[in-house]
Amino acid sequence: MRIGIDCDGVLRDFIPDVVDLIKEKHPEHADKILVPKSWDWEDWLPFWSEDETEKFVFEDNYEKLFGPEANIIPSVLEDWPILKAWAIKNGHELVLVSAQREHCKELTTEWLQRWGIVFDEMHYTKEKWSVDVDVLIDDSPEKLDIFNERSVAYGRPICMKTTWNEESQKKYMTIERLSDLVGRVFG
Ligand SMILES: [Mg+2]
Repeated sequence: MRIGIDCDGVLRDFIPDVVDLIKEKHPEHADKILVPKSWDWEDWLPFWSEDETEKFVFEDNYEKLFGPEANIIPSVLEDWPILKAWAIKNGHELVLVSAQREHCKELTTEWLQRWGIVFDEMHYTKEKWSVDVDVLIDDSPEKLDIFNERSVAYGRPICMKTTWNEESQKKYMTIERLSDLVGRVFG
C-alpha cells in the first residue's frame, strides 16, 4: 500500500503558527481572529483582505512559517515513529504529497529533515490526484474532493479532522491523528 500524506494541517502546525504570528506581530488584531471554519482567509481573518493575508504568510513571513522553525503538530511527534515502524513491518510506503508554492518547497524539505520525518518518496504538486497512491491523508476539502474524483490509482481520500473540514468529515473516512491509521483504517 502506498500512503500519501499531506504536510500542512497533517504534519506541520501551519494554521496555529499563522495565528500565533499574527498575535505577535499585530497584537491589535489578536481578539479579532476567529476559529477557521473554511479555506478562505477572509472568513476567519476578517480584518485583512485576502491579498493582505497572502502577503503576510507567503511574502513577509514564509521563512518562519515554512522553514525549520515552524512547529510540528504535537501528536505527530509521538505518532510518526509508530506509523513508520508499522509501515516498514507491513511493507507500506509513505509518500509525501504536498502542494507547496515554489519558494516554499526547499524550506519544507528542510522542515521535514529538522523533525526527522523521512518519506520513501516525495512529491510537491498541486495535482495531488496525479500521484500514484492508494490513500491520501489531507485536511483540504478541495484536495480531498478532487482526489476522490480523479485519483490515477483510484485512491481513497482520508480526512485529517480539523475545524475547517467539517463537510469532508461527513463524506470521507476521517482520522484525528496519524496513529489512527494503524489501528482503525488498516487494523
Ligand atoms: Mg494541508
